[in-house]
Amino acid sequence: TRTMIVTGAASGIGKATAELLRERGDTVIGVDLRGADVNADLSTAEGRESLVEQVREASGGRIDGILAIAGLAAPIPATVAVNFFGMVATLEGLRPLLAGSDSPRAVGIASMASLHPHDDELVALMAGGDEAGALARAEVLAGDASTGHLIYASTKKAFAQWVRRNAATDDWAAAGIPLNAIAPGVIVTPMTAPLLETEEGREQIRAGVPMPLNGFAEAIVAARLLAWLVSEENTHLCGQVIFVDGGSDVVIRGDST
Ligand code: NAD
Repeated sequence: TRTMIVTGAASGIGKATAELLRERGDTVIGVDLRGADVNADLSTAEGRESLVEQVREASGGRIDGILAIAGLAAPIPATVAVNFFGMVATLEGLRPLLAGSDSPRAVGIASMASLHPHDDELVALMAGGDEAGALARAEVLAGDASTGHLIYASTKKAFAQWVRRNAATDDWAAAGIPLNAIAPGVIVTPMTAPLLETEEGREQIRAGVPMPLNGFAEAIVAARLLAWLVSEENTHLCGQVIFVDGGSDVVIRGDST
């Protein structure tokens, strides 16, 4: 059986993905802040190191797939730590454990929010690997009600760019590891539940995330795509950021490819 590491496994998309992979016969090591097979805080350097150590022990040192799903949507600096630095650390930190796999695979989660307005300075700090600088910039953005929302979009933009910049390198493609991302539209999970509760919230979401094809999606929709991306069938997708968004990318970006 294949061994898959799923972060964010306690809730939402991560939970649905862990369940789907288990149903299909994979061994899944779920990671989350608490209540998972491996408990680790991906917002800190110690937590990220602990993740790698615990997964090495739990897996016996050989894994087949990394699914970096854990994330935050709050307009706070921690969102930068988890969504960008935590996700990249998960992928890079666990990559050496893929070396023993016949069909190693890796995937992370961007978002259609990468198409929303973002803060160029924050994106550049993340791209440069400057976590202290990025957290300081996010602190400034978080302090103003008119800029806080730029934090989440910036983390997703920076992560999508990271996948594009790294997928074809020696670390991933030349090592035989497809590295890709998915970019969901609105998925019904505890992350979006507060907004989806009221008609006002739903209207606000529809305005920013138009989904002409089938509307808001259940977590299983994202889970099925993630499961395929880490399956043996996926031999040639490289650096793709796949929008599973009911059409919001098409509506927002039109025919630009
Ligand atoms: P969720 O809140 O239901 O689940 C996220 C999980 O990540 C939680 O279990 C949480 O404990 C975990 N997590 C948060 N901080 C952590 C940390 N420091 N260390 C370890 N684990 C941590 O959210 P979800 O909707 O399932 O989102 C999963 C991913 O999908 C996120 O990256 C999110 O940005 C992305 N996404 C979600 C949507 C959506 O509409 N729900 C859309 C686009 C992208």
